[in-house]
Amino acid sequence: MTEGRHAVVLGAGIAGLLAARVLSEHFAQVTIVERDIVEGTGVRRGVPQARHLHGLLDRGRTIIEQLYPGFTSELAGRGATTAEALVGTRWYVGGLRVAPTSTGLTSVIATRPLLESVLRQRTLATPGVRLCEGVAGGLIGDADRVHGMTVSGAYGAQAHAADLIVDATGRGSRAPMWLTALGAQAPAEERLEVDLGYASRMFRRIPGQLGGHSSVIISTGANGRGGGAVRVEGDRWHVTLAGMLGDHPPTDPEGFAAFARSISAPDIHDLVTASEPLDDAVPHRFRAPVRRRFERLAAVPAGFLVLGDALCSFNPLYAQGMAVAAQQALALRDCLAGGAATDELPARFYCAAGKVVDDAWQLAAGADLSHPGVLGPRTLRTRLTNAYVARVHRAAHVDPLVARTFLRVANLVEAPTALLHPRTARRIMLRGNGKAATVAELGGQTFADRTPTLIEPTR
Ligand SMILES: Cc1cc2nc3c(=O)[nH]c(=O)nc-3n(C[C@H](O)[C@H](O)[C@H](O)COP(=O)(O)OP(=O)(O)OC[C@H]3O[C@@H](n4cnc5c(N)ncnc54)[C@H](O)[C@@H]3O)c2cc1C
Repeated sequence: MTEGRHAVVLGAGIAGLLAARVLSEHFAQVTIVERDIVEGTGVRRGVPQARHLHGLLDRGRTIIEQLYPGFTSELAGRGATTAEALVGTRWYVGGLRVAPTSTGLTSVIATRPLLESVLRQRTLATPGVRLCEGVAGGLIGDADRVHGMTVSGAYGAQAHAADLIVDATGRGSRAPMWLTALGAQAPAEERLEVDLGYASRMFRRIPGQLGGHSSVIISTGANGRGGGAVRVEGDRWHVTLAGMLGDHPPTDPEGFAAFARSISAPDIHDLVTASEPLDDAVPHRFRAPVRRRFERLAAVPAGFLVLGDALCSFNPLYAQGMAVAAQQALALRDCLAGGAATDELPARFYCAAGKVVDDAWQLAAGADLSHPGVLGPRTLRTRLTNAYVARVHRAAHVDPLVARTFLRVANLVEAPTALLHPRTARRIMLRGNGKAATVAELGGQTFADRTPTLIEPTR
């Protein structure tokens, strides 16, 4: 069904590709405008974050699978690793290993460039979708309606007419300025200054490392330091170290290893010191998650909407960006099903997208605000929630049902309220009370060393 003639998507990142796929169901022609030359699986200038670990939450994977059937197996066929989360992967929170238990969640582990290249190939194979190289420059229209935009390319600046323009240009989106230039309102912004630093490096994997597990994630502990090591294509460990509030990991080999030693579980340090490095560490600085409140605007012009990181850029520590972009694509699909050509589409989309962003934003902001140095409003609700989450962390270390529910919530597969279900809450209150043993207190042993068998969650 083609209700509109031409939709233009700005940006061929994850959000732009998913949006183009969804729009192709309703528009005869979908043009993706991208400033980079995009081909192969190399890291490109417009997506510098692609050098760093990119975990795809299971909610995102299942939506992508719905839009591109066979996506997971295609990625696996190109070298990605798949594993059941907590069965074939490890996770530490608050210095404690989350109990290894069945979660029903599939982790598909690959570098961001590989993931994006599979999505790009599939999207560009969709009838009506094409890619055009150029830099989006500004909107054409007025405060009521956008008719097109200017794009600079090899032949200078040109005007492109479109029935719908979707801005997926990422965190650096200029949509607020474009809207102001039309005389329309720009959205209010919410930010939480976390001053996060990443440093990432590839290592050659030695068979049997990490007990055969495909990844380990060590969430930032009380000292604001954490990291992850994931087994990506080419039988490599992609190792990312992270530090908050200006305490950034160094990129020189000795400093990188010393930082790995300072985080709350030894697994990553063990990998880094035992494996052959394949490149130099690269840094990335991320100052603040930013949420643009388009859903609160009294009026938005018809013919233009914003999604992905341009709408809400999350703290990368919680790996939510791609999954929420997928949720937004699904929300757009639902809105389009109600009539692509209507002027109400942007407002309807912002309302639906605001709801999907809410859960992820609350989870992330709550975790950020649990670090005393992060400035932001700590309402009574935030403080009570964080006290409860600290119990969840301790209970998840010893209780498989809590571990399973916690991971499913973090993967956006279940709503956060699942942790308040009376059966689960009872276990959280009982088992999250005492201070569970830390790895250090276990004499350097990890939880896996003590409990090699998988525990089935009992209900
Ligand atoms: C360090 C770091 C680590 C991250 N780790 C994770 C993770 O583990 N899991 C996860 O889910 N998410 C992670 N994210 C977030 C994730 O990268 C994004 O949420 C996801 O890529 C969706 O972003 P997007 O497509 O909206 O924007 P992007 O991926 O940034 O893509 C924007 C695209 O727009 C193009 N563009 C920009 N301006 C213009 C213009 N004027 N004209 C034409 N094209 C333009 C760019 O070249 C780029 O291709 C991480 C982010 C960072 C910074």
